[in-house]
Amino acid sequence: MKEYDVIIVGGGIHGAGVLQAAVAAGHSALLIEKGALASGTSSRSSKLIHGGLRYLESGQFSLVRESLRERAVHLRIAPDLVELKPFFIPVYAETRRRPWQLKIGLALYALLGGFAPGTRFGSVPKRDWGQLDGLQTHNLDAVIRYYDAQTDDAALTRAVVESARSLGGEIAMPAAFLGANLAADGVEVLFEQGGERVARRARVLVNAAGPWATRVARAVTPAIQVPDVDLVQGTHIVLPMSVTGGIYYVESPADGRAVFIMPWKGATLIGTTETPYKGEPDQVRPLPEEEEYLLAVVRHYFPAVAGMTRADIRERFAGLRVLPAASEKAFDRSRETIFTTDREPHPRVLGIYGGKLTGWRAAAAQVLARIGPSLSAKPRRAATDELVLRRAP
Ligand SMILES: Cc1cc2nc3c(=O)[nH]c(=O)nc-3n(C[C@H](O)[C@H](O)[C@H](O)COP(=O)(O)OP(=O)(O)OC[C@H]3O[C@@H](n4cnc5c(N)ncnc54)[C@H](O)[C@@H]3O)c2cc1C
Repeated sequence: MKEYDVIIVGGGIHGAGVLQAAVAAGHSALLIEKGALASGTSSRSSKLIHGGLRYLESGQFSLVRESLRERAVHLRIAPDLVELKPFFIPVYAETRRRPWQLKIGLALYALLGGFAPGTRFGSVPKRDWGQLDGLQTHNLDAVIRYYDAQTDDAALTRAVVESARSLGGEIAMPAAFLGANLAADGVEVLFEQGGERVARRARVLVNAAGPWATRVARAVTPAIQVPDVDLVQGTHIVLPMSVTGGIYYVESPADGRAVFIMPWKGATLIGTTETPYKGEPDQVRPLPEEEEYLLAVVRHYFPAVAGMTRADIRERFAGLRVLPAASEKAFDRSRETIFTTDREPHPRVLGIYGGKLTGWRAAAAQVLARIGPSLSAKPRRAATDELVLRRAP
């Protein structure tokens, strides 16, 4: 039976990152994807490579520091795919977060980002408010500007896979993982490809199946630990309106949640929502009430589109966040990636739950560090913070 050092289930950003990190470290690796690359969450995100300004409010400082470091790496290695953009936070008389609070937060953001060029911030002078894409100016007290980065999440995922392939990474696609049997020193992995059942051996199986990860973990024999996670749906809509100045970071008038209004492929992308989800990950779809919620936000801040309805929505998509199970609101829960292993210090299965698009490279490095003891040392082929990522033609 053909054998690999690492077999990865899932061709989202995490699976792509682990494939790249494994082959860069000199290991043989195979990635199994049941649909297309980035067909899950990794094409349905808000497409931001960002520190996550709002995570400061929940005290997730190390996550913000790591994310800002990763943002800087992306700007260096993926200039075709990741672009620094101005973000605007309008502050109205009724806005919950006041300008001074935002400026304290942004000063901390700049500090955690090592005062890199992309961490500068300030206020947009009142005389320039007319250049803000028709933003509502009634009761507007201030507009704070800072910088974060935008990407094309699916294109980024494909670029990481391409980089892994160039170092010898293999892909089976479409190929659906069926199950795995643990042995003393590795794992037998079964999948279905082109109507055939295929068996391969690996020293380690990495479960990077995103919202499907608990299903993949439950197909391992004998049974392994499956963490208690919740799925939370996030919907985006695309409207035929022009927002070109930058990304608007606004509070929903309904509940104060943060919503982004962003330029996207000649139109405008608005998101996101947070709706608990109990169904099959394959079945997730935007709900009418989520679309109405997002339309209400955009109509509130951009009077020129006050007449837009659900009939104007050009595109809609929903993705699933994987968050630690808890009773608190999704917004307040940790966004740190959760790693699980079947045993220490020589894991045969490692699971990745949750995490951020921004943090894929750091997450992959952590995976390699954790599974390292199960693999024999090989000569390194490349360093992932130096591999240039290019948009596929
Ligand atoms: C609404 C929303 C907005 C977000 N916005 C941002 C953002 O702006 N910035 C940011 O940094 N992060 C953001 N995130 C987080 C980020 O998108 C995710 O953390 C990331 O995309 C997860 O990638 P993944 O590889 O773990 O999962 P996925 O992309 O879901 O990949 C899992 C893959 O596994 C495959 N798979 C499943 N089962 C099997 C099987 N049996 N056999 C083979 N393959 C299988 C699936 O087809 C899928 O392609 C957002 C998340 C959501 C939900």
